[in-house]
Amino acid sequence: MKKIYLDYAATTPVDEKVLETMLPYFTQSYGNAMSVHGFGQEALEAVDTARAKAALFFRCSASEIIFTSGATESNNLVVKGSLRSFYSIPRKSEEKPHIITTKFEHHCVLDACKFAEKDGLAEVTFIAPNKEGLISLNDVKKAIKPNTILISVMYVNNEIGTVQPVEEIGKVIKKINIDRKENKLPQIVYHTDATQAINYFNCDVDTLGVDLLSMSAHKIYGPKGVGLLYTRKGTPIKRVQDGGDQEFKLRAGTHNVPAIVGLGEAINMIKTPATQKKIEQIKELRDYMIKRVLKEIPKSYLNGSQEKRSPNNANFRFDDVEGEGLILSLDLDGIAASTGSACSSGALDPSHVLLSLGLKHEQAHGSLRVTIGKHTTKKELDIMIDKLKEVVKRLRKISGNVLADFQ
Ligand code: PMP
Repeated sequence: MKKIYLDYAATTPVDEKVLETMLPYFTQSYGNAMSVHGFGQEALEAVDTARAKAALFFRCSASEIIFTSGATESNNLVVKGSLRSFYSIPRKSEEKPHIITTKFEHHCVLDACKFAEKDGLAEVTFIAPNKEGLISLNDVKKAIKPNTILISVMYVNNEIGTVQPVEEIGKVIKKINIDRKENKLPQIVYHTDATQAINYFNCDVDTLGVDLLSMSAHKIYGPKGVGLLYTRKGTPIKRVQDGGDQEFKLRAGTHNVPAIVGLGEAINMIKTPATQKKIEQIKELRDYMIKRVLKEIPKSYLNGSQEKRSPNNANFRFDDVEGEGLILSLDLDGIAASTGSACSSGALDPSHVLLSLGLKHEQAHGSLRVTIGKHTTKKELDIMIDKLKEVVKRLRKISGNVLADFQ
């Protein structure tokens, strides 16, 4: 039985070319990029080449790229590093800094903010998306207060794939910051977690108007355990991990040279005509899948906006079916999908993302995320949909709800 992988939002396979570029840095050019000798210089050159590739992609300076161990670390650095910077400067008042984020961020942003609040370090506003899974520009505007220091809004939601108005929010913040400068008030730092957006959307940091942007290589056919934080020059942020002077003193720790090389190659491949053509095919396949599922499975729905959605994401909801049951049944047939974020799929709690849309617990439990990628074929989707029809029907029968009347 050939296995079918439909969980590209959880992770992607490393591209062969990416792997090839990485291999010499394990056994041949294995120096520490901070060493002054030839081995070190060779490693440093490789890190700098990857940095230049990333800078080209984000249209920023190479010195604004900070390599990390992935988006979790980048996002923690954003929240904790901004607060560390805030508290490192003498203050006139005891007022806490204010952070604005959304209710459906990845847990690494959400929990970092919650802990900051719990520890009494910050005041946080968590903005709810509308039922389509979209954050309103107006809600962000309304939430801004004189003590707001950081706004963090994800670009593409990892569970429902909805695309947020990051550029529009950026324009508003830019205007507010001009006023603040005139009134000698601190600037608002604007961050986006672009982990799920890199493959498909414009990530030119000046167009987006962001000061900070997080990403992770393993979502773009690169290796796991490496990512970066774009950090606009002059942004008030301090490192949270103390140690060596790596990464412009913003992220201590020996460079993971092969992984960084892999990230550089993976990011370089995105803008090639071949990849851009693939995106169109992925979108067509996704639309085909959504259409078939909604038409052929009674009482099935799409979670999140259909229009403002990442080309690779479909998140379905089925009445009277448990998502976990669906995943396990599909897995027995060699089909890998998910109920939500792989990072919290061990938890039995319903997804915080689906609840933030206003769904009831049982609705959130009846959801299935199917995320496709460059190796997905129409045949694979047909096999998955046929199986899904069978499984939904069977599970509904078991739960005593014989609703299904398949075509
Ligand atoms: N943010 C988002 C939106 C993600 O999808 C993920 C990965 N699921 C992360 C952050 C965490 O990334 P990493 O696996 O690199 O720690």
